Amino acid sequence: MLEIAFSTEIKNIMTKKVRVRFAPSPTGPLHIGGVRTALFNYLFAKKHDGDFILRIEDTDQNRYVEGAEQYIIDALNWCGMPFDEGVGKGGDFGPYRQSERKELYKQYADDLIASGNAYYAFDTAENLDFHRKDHEAKGKTFIYNWHNRLKLSNSLALSAEETQAKLDAGEDYVIRFKSPQDETLHLKDIIRGDIKIDTNILDDKVLYKSDGMPTYHLANIVDDHLMQITHVIRGEEWLPSLALHYQLYQALGWDAPEFAHLPLILKPTGKGKLSKRDGDKLGFPVFPLEWTDPKTNDVSRGYKEDGYFPEAMVNFLAFLGWNPGTEQELFSLDELIKDFDLTRVHKAGARFDPDKTKWFNHHYMQEQHNDILAEAFKPTVDEKTGADIDLQYISMAVGLIKERATFVSDFWDLTHYFFTAPTSYDEKASKKAFKEETKAILSEVNTLVNGIEDFTVENLQTEIKGWITSNDIGFGKVMMPLRLALVGALQGPDVFDIMYMIGKNESIKRIENVMATL
Ligand code: GLU
Repeated sequence: MLEIAFSTEIKNIMTKKVRVRFAPSPTGPLHIGGVRTALFNYLFAKKHDGDFILRIEDTDQNRYVEGAEQYIIDALNWCGMPFDEGVGKGGDFGPYRQSERKELYKQYADDLIASGNAYYAFDTAENLDFHRKDHEAKGKTFIYNWHNRLKLSNSLALSAEETQAKLDAGEDYVIRFKSPQDETLHLKDIIRGDIKIDTNILDDKVLYKSDGMPTYHLANIVDDHLMQITHVIRGEEWLPSLALHYQLYQALGWDAPEFAHLPLILKPTGKGKLSKRDGDKLGFPVFPLEWTDPKTNDVSRGYKEDGYFPEAMVNFLAFLGWNPGTEQELFSLDELIKDFDLTRVHKAGARFDPDKTKWFNHHYMQEQHNDILAEAFKPTVDEKTGADIDLQYISMAVGLIKERATFVSDFWDLTHYFFTAPTSYDEKASKKAFKEETKAILSEVNTLVNGIEDFTVENLQTEIKGWITSNDIGFGKVMMPLRLALVGALQGPDVFDIMYMIGKNESIKRIENVMATL
């Protein structure tokens, strides 16, 4: 059963221009969960004539991975979700890379200190580690907050002079948010409704470090405010940060945007979150595009390179957490924009179904123009045949078999007989199709075929079918060996289509070939 929250109304769509952002950190390739987050942002923005912004959150330089930013941009473009503002594109609210906005954040950290909402903390890593271990040994968890902050090394515990002296001496510090004691916060989430949080369980999160870099929390809310973001749509893993973010908006005297935390994407078993590592283990890609790790050179599969159409990917991602409330499953991007509704996103985890992704791809394969598919297939055909095969011919072959295909990589197995004569005949099928009288029948068919001047599908059909009926032979006795002669197996589209495609001479040659083996 899906859990759907209809309760929460969305306010800002009525009063302000909708502005949403996708804010990935360039720490590696974008997981499909990230692409789903981008998609829901994109759909929401476009549905409400709003802006979709790409902001790169690269304040954690230790986790920066070369090439990840470009990968994110390429992935969004491949999916057909171009952003209106962002890195490489510009806009009125730039720069859109947090590392380039570095100077901007300090003043807000200072404001928070001045208003008594934040404080300097000088605790060394060793000291904090000591407290952590000490608590663990007593079966407790160390939380840096109201209940012990006065026993630690910070500007709340030290005098103003002591604090200034430490700052003047250039001691390492962080700026922490001062989480209130004994308060209940009422948070709102479009998908989850009202959430109550007891502030006593919150820790005093680090907002700023003495290396001049803000942490995710500070940079994120400052940027969302300055970029006039109206709706924050992001993964469930950020829900625990919501209380702090609300409090930061309040402390800075800003209106908070509305929030929607999307459900987790679960493994196909339904147990546990689908992780970056699952792809290789479970046999399907978890990334939109192929990714080569710049350090190890390990290659991870991508949907694009595995032969998926972006339309299929967008369609299956849309259903990870959302449904239209009807039976309709096939949605183009435009249809999604029209029907997408954030209040129909459910909060229960969405199970990933790799078979369903194939079902979608099969559908979008049928919608593709044969010429486009032929272009993608041509390199394989040319390589297998060692020739430069006419694109129009490949396109016709593709048109005859694509209803049986899910990927372009399925094409060769389904079409090889259009390009090369069979060199062997399926054993089981031969037993079924080749009878005593087969050779004599095929010999007569060959004579008949030879006599057809205008070699069209219609003429072939009329002549051969007419001949079968007037001689009262039985269709199977003729059509089965004929198909085996042409294809090498009892597969493929209509026999007359195949004969027309390969032409008169080749048809005759293949019938003769099989007769020689009988
Ligand atoms: N930088 C965060 C991420 O990598 C963004 C979270 C958010 O959207 O607030 O997912």
